[in-house]
Amino acid sequence: MSDVRNVIIIGSGPAGYTAALYTARASLKPLVFEGAVTAGGALMNTTEVENFPGFQDGVMGPELMDNMRAQAERFGAELVPDDVVAVDLTGEIKTVTDTAGTVHKAKAVIVTTGSQHRKLGLPNEDALSGRGVSWCATCDGFFFKGQDIAVIGGGDTAMEEATFLSRFANSVTIVHRRDTLRASKAMQERAFADPKISFVWDSEVAEILGDQKLSGLKLRNVKTGELSDLAVTGLFIAIGHDPRTELFKGQLELDEEGYLKVDAPSTRTNVTGVFAAGDVVDHTYRQAITAAGTGCSAALDAERFLAALA
Ligand code: FAD
Repeated sequence: MSDVRNVIIIGSGPAGYTAALYTARASLKPLVFEGAVTAGGALMNTTEVENFPGFQDGVMGPELMDNMRAQAERFGAELVPDDVVAVDLTGEIKTVTDTAGTVHKAKAVIVTTGSQHRKLGLPNEDALSGRGVSWCATCDGFFFKGQDIAVIGGGDTAMEEATFLSRFANSVTIVHRRDTLRASKAMQERAFADPKISFVWDSEVAEILGDQKLSGLKLRNVKTGELSDLAVTGLFIAIGHDPRTELFKGQLELDEEGYLKVDAPSTRTNVTGVFAAGDVVDHTYRQAITAAGTGCSAALDAERFLAALA
């Protein structure tokens, strides 16, 4: 059993690094798969983070994640910048396979693989992320005080983002590719009643304009093909998220939207010894601090599970 670890953590955002910090400080010597391309998670793609407690003047996303990484490493977490490509979580000893085909064994696994916001798939979208283009009103709304903003989408999230943003913005234009909304009646009514919110129906974004900063959008009417310009300095894309749960299908219980199910308020999944935390579980809050918080819970749950085995 000497090659069997106590705990393997899959994923390296705020949830994964916090779970790594706590399990490392509990002398569990966690092995952390950080991901090959996006080690550090979603905040590696943003600029200033103003709402993570403890940083009075804000902190750049990559700096925050580098600090979390270093803090976990300082206490003995073993960090591997590689992807997990297969798992077998069903037995008492779990196995996790890396891209080289090496199989790693552990008594407990913590899943913190996050979720991917859906993109429009347009040139400039990534380049202007954090420079006018955003996927999170709670995170970035404050930066857009007095500005004209577009929100893309027609579901509950889009309506929620738009009504939240109207507190700060000069105007909010919801661009939707159909002529009716998918959002719940209550959310629709709130958006319709907001004097700062207007709608562009049957339309999609054809082009994101701007060099160093967003300067506007070119819209295309999907029925007529007609192009028009929308002068905005903020673009919030609210067309959904995809939790990264492909690896776990058939082994861990997922909800109807593909998020991992846990026995809340604990982080226990339906498989004994497997815990999950962060945005891969959460379709409600999706914040760095909530991901870090549940990462801590997962570490404590795993620690107690391992102590009971001893
Ligand atoms: P993530 O941060 O998504 O990390 C998941 C990690 O798992 C990734 O590194 C990924 O590579 C890794 N992974 C996935 N699959 C595998 C695999 N098979 N093998 C190995 N590794 C894997 N929140 C705030 O609180 N404040 C903000 O200002 C803010 N700004 C944001 C700006 C942007 C542009 C974005 C996209 C999000 C922002 N958020 C913000 C939200 C915040 O980033 C997320 O809520 C948080 O990062 C979720 O943490 P997580 O640990 O659950 O997942």
